[in-house]
Amino acid sequence: MKTDFDVIVIGAGFAGMYMLHRLRGLGFSARVIEAGKGVGGTWYWNRYPGARCDVESVQYSYQFDPELEQEWEWTERYATQPEILKYANHVADRYDLRRDIRFETRVTKAAFDESDKVWLVETDKGDRVVARFVVAASGCLSAPNTPRIEGLADFAGPTYHTGNWPHEGVDFTGKTVGLIGTGSSAIQSIPIIARQARHLTVFQRTANYTIPAHNRPLDPAYVAEVKASYREMRKRAKGLPAGIDLKINMASAIETPDEERRRLYQERWDYGGFGFMAAFSDLLLNDRSNKTAADFVRAKIRETVADPATAEALAPTNIIGCKRLCVDTGYWASFNRPNVTLVDIRDTAIERITPTGLRVKGTDHAFDCLVLATGFDAMTGALLRIDIRGRGGVALKDKWSEGPKAYLGLTMAGFPNLFTITGPGSPSVLTNMLPSIEQHVDWIADCLAAMRQKGATVIEAEKSAEEAWVGHVGESAGNTLRSTCSSWYVGANIPGKPRVFMPYIGGLPAYIERCEAVVAKGYEGFAFG
Ligand code: FAD
Ligand code: NAP
Repeated sequence: MKTDFDVIVIGAGFAGMYMLHRLRGLGFSARVIEAGKGVGGTWYWNRYPGARCDVESVQYSYQFDPELEQEWEWTERYATQPEILKYANHVADRYDLRRDIRFETRVTKAAFDESDKVWLVETDKGDRVVARFVVAASGCLSAPNTPRIEGLADFAGPTYHTGNWPHEGVDFTGKTVGLIGTGSSAIQSIPIIARQARHLTVFQRTANYTIPAHNRPLDPAYVAEVKASYREMRKRAKGLPAGIDLKINMASAIETPDEERRRLYQERWDYGGFGFMAAFSDLLLNDRSNKTAADFVRAKIRETVADPATAEALAPTNIIGCKRLCVDTGYWASFNRPNVTLVDIRDTAIERITPTGLRVKGTDHAFDCLVLATGFDAMTGALLRIDIRGRGGVALKDKWSEGPKAYLGLTMAGFPNLFTITGPGSPSVLTNMLPSIEQHVDWIADCLAAMRQKGATVIEAEKSAEEAWVGHVGESAGNTLRSTCSSWYVGANIPGKPRVFMPYIGGLPAYIERCEAVVAKGYEGFAFG
């Protein structure tokens, strides 16, 4: 069968854009298929008020081209969604990417043809495209989770999902708003919606930990300093588990005297951001150590929130850092506003959405607008919303019926010539995603170039290598406190989803070393045809 392209890339977020750039550079023909009208992925869809990165802008950016690094100016410590989207568009223009991207088109099916060893890709626009390889750059957090709450369709007012926010924005002035969720999206949007709306009612199923961002405009002298030392910063970041350049204190929290421990937490609290969890090296290994950090944050909540009952309800009871940590600007203080009410629903599920609001614990709450800050079917959702068929017509959803299985989070046995960027079993969402994306894209691009050089047309993960890697991923997760709560890392937010810790917790350096070792050993664990 004649191929239309060497490679079909699904998605034009940061992963798909860089993949296209690399493929072009190597002389492969490629077509990117993107559901949205523009590039940027996460930053194209998540336009809710307050959306911004929580890895510092200068680190949450591409590093493949030093010229791009030098010419782009980040203006805030944590860039806003519009600024990050502008950056994505700048990248698309700079490398002339759009001419190979088909927008407003969703891939609905991809099936491997065993006789011709090609992929047949179908879209919702009726396209049927044939390619040798498929790269799924479809995102870890791109399939919005709309909870199945009875009556949702009956709500008379507008319903907004943070992960698919109207492009024209929403003006809540004079409106009453009900908001479900207290994850990162909620924590960023609540302070802003609270300032705008007449009244905001927040429905909280699980209280969450958040650290102040202390966001600020970036001082030009600091930016110049970063620009002069990008290479060193990137190198340091890549050598650390989360791929973020921050100072890790190697001491144990529990072995540090109380006063010194509190001083160190306060120092990191005052600095702001994710570095809080690097105050000690054992916060996710030892529950007594973890409790010292959790107690510190709980005390901050009690200090900030005036009403003791609200403060108690907002104080999380689980392991800090088990669910993804949030970074905020004025979240706890929002609950001191007279127009904000917290409704704790930890013990009782929402009964139903009504035409005028929602009913929980037998009480009706009325509001004009409903905001679903209910997250995503993470890591596997975007892939499983496509009908992907491998050898023998086997569906990916059947292969993954007990949880995702992939070799290095990059490829799956039984699905030749299909690659996933930051797929399950890679460090992905536990890291700064930009360096993780670039590492995967580079690995895939180099692999395709190596195949071309040796005349191979098919690559497939061996089942034994996949099983060993999946075993290692599971074992690593079991060694930390991160797998102990009902987070989206384990699929707990989606009813019926298998409970498996999906990302690889061993850290970026160990993972990169493994990927490089696989290549050095002639692509160990892969079969070529
Ligand atoms: P995405 O950006 O999700 O892009 C995937 C694209 O694929 C989307 O445009 C989607 O439309 C498209 N797509 C999916 N399925 C199909 C299909 N079937 N057909 C066609 N197109 C399809 N990470 C960090 O490291 N730091 C942060 O500060 C940070 N902040 C975040 C804030 C928010 C609100 C969210 C939701 C995530 C955040 N993340 C952050 C994670 C973020 O998803 C990644 O950093 C990164 O943007 C992912 O890029 P990607 O290209 O892999 O996926
Ligand atoms: P999330 O963390 O999954 O939070 C979803 C919230 O909705 C949770 O509080 C959840 O409660 C609640 N929820 C879901 N279904 C519900 C139901 N049926 N009834 C009541 N409550 C329900 O999603 P998110 O906030 O969109 O964030 C997802 C991830 O995207 C983040 O963890 C992060 O990786 C990334 N992100 C980053 C930023 C940033 O700061 N840069 C911002 C947004 C998102 P439970 O906890 O009980 O499940």
